[in-house]
Amino acid sequence: MATVDTDKEFSVFDSMAARFDVAAQKLGLDEGILRYLRTPNREIIVHIPVTMDNGRLEVFVGYRVQHSIARGPCKGGVRYSPEVTLDEIRGLAAEMTWKCAVVNIPFGGAKGGIVCDPEHLSQSELERITRRYTAEILDYIGPERDVPAPDMNTNEQTMAWIMDTYSMHLRHTVTACVTGKPFGLGGSRGRPAATGRGCMIVTDQALKRFGREREQTRVIVQGFGNVGSQASRLMHEAGYRIIGVADIHSGIYNSNGLDIPQLLEYSKENRTIEGFPESEPIGRQEILEQDCDVLLPAATENVITSKNAGHIRARILVEGANSPTTPPADDILFDRGVFVVPDILANAGGVTVSYFEWVQDRQGYFWPEGMVNERLKHIQVAAFNDVVHFGEKHNVNNRIAAYMLAIDRVATTLKLRGIYA
Ligand code: NAD
Repeated sequence: MATVDTDKEFSVFDSMAARFDVAAQKLGLDEGILRYLRTPNREIIVHIPVTMDNGRLEVFVGYRVQHSIARGPCKGGVRYSPEVTLDEIRGLAAEMTWKCAVVNIPFGGAKGGIVCDPEHLSQSELERITRRYTAEILDYIGPERDVPAPDMNTNEQTMAWIMDTYSMHLRHTVTACVTGKPFGLGGSRGRPAATGRGCMIVTDQALKRFGREREQTRVIVQGFGNVGSQASRLMHEAGYRIIGVADIHSGIYNSNGLDIPQLLEYSKENRTIEGFPESEPIGRQEILEQDCDVLLPAATENVITSKNAGHIRARILVEGANSPTTPPADDILFDRGVFVVPDILANAGGVTVSYFEWVQDRQGYFWPEGMVNERLKHIQVAAFNDVVHFGEKHNVNNRIAAYMLAIDRVATTLKLRGIYA
């Protein structure tokens, strides 16, 4: 029996701030720097008037929060959902700063969102919302300022509209103003699978620590969107046994392993994984509590809370989603010896290949996919080792180690730059 559905005991910002405070205290961070890094540089709220297909004028709320530009331009996704809040975007923006610092790429963090329900919007309505949002935040974004990317319910097409709107205003084509674009428009090879690939790279590293082979490893994935489906596909191809998958509608389970290529076909046709043959149905939360070696939440935040953390049976937790675990749940997992690969490390493959895309756009010179994947692996393996060694050195868990490493890198840059006043 599942014990919990999404539990909002901690907002994304609360979770980020709780971890930040612990890490900053362990680092002995100067109080002024602590206050500065805990707050975003800039928060933009826009009201977007859009004429709907039926001729009605609607007004949508959009956000862009820029947390830090200390190490370079801001970087972060834009999500469309009826549940978007400023607090959530603020927390996610800060997490992007720490994520970019963990993988040591020259960006700060940002996040954006529009309060809307894409399931009830036509393509042309989505296009108008996206273009007007872009026009409203135009002065604050750009290759040297802030580079948006896809996130929940946004995709390559959304990025193409942002890039086109930005370019139309500047009167010349600026491909490097967003990442996650279609390949024909300056996108990078390897970008669509990058976050899922990164999840597999860090899982491989975690297995090495346990002396385990991929073929002996049973994986459960929650979420079958960009991250979950690509991670499942790549892990299946690499020999892992994917025994459970869930999407927003339901979960499916087969202890012998699911046929992932067929599941990908099935979900494309049916727009859900529900009813997939040769599997048993299971609840989308209940699936988290099944016996497995690796649990990969790749759906949404706060799915592992103080109420269900004690029932997680996985040995390794790889956080494909942002903020899937609340701070009280962290303590329970760590006490129970679960090896956690925290979100800011586990799902950093996407922003790393976004960085490659930005570099390629600025050079006008595109890399073969093998080179993208090799460079991604190099960066993520180094980041994994940095975090684990930092944790061992300071006697803290992987989550706090990742935060400490990231905060230390950003604070070092700030100290070098000084505070302009
Ligand atoms: P997506 O919209 O493509 O897919 C989300 C998936 O999760 C869908 O299958 C949906 O049905 C499922 N889902 C939603 N709520 C659920 C719930 N309560 N229980 C079970 N399933 C649920 O989104 P995505 O791009 O795959 O992102 C997933 C997560 O990964 C988000 O937290 C996002 O912020 C994070 N992330 C994404 C990227 C990226 O490159 N796309 C990079 C880093 C982090």
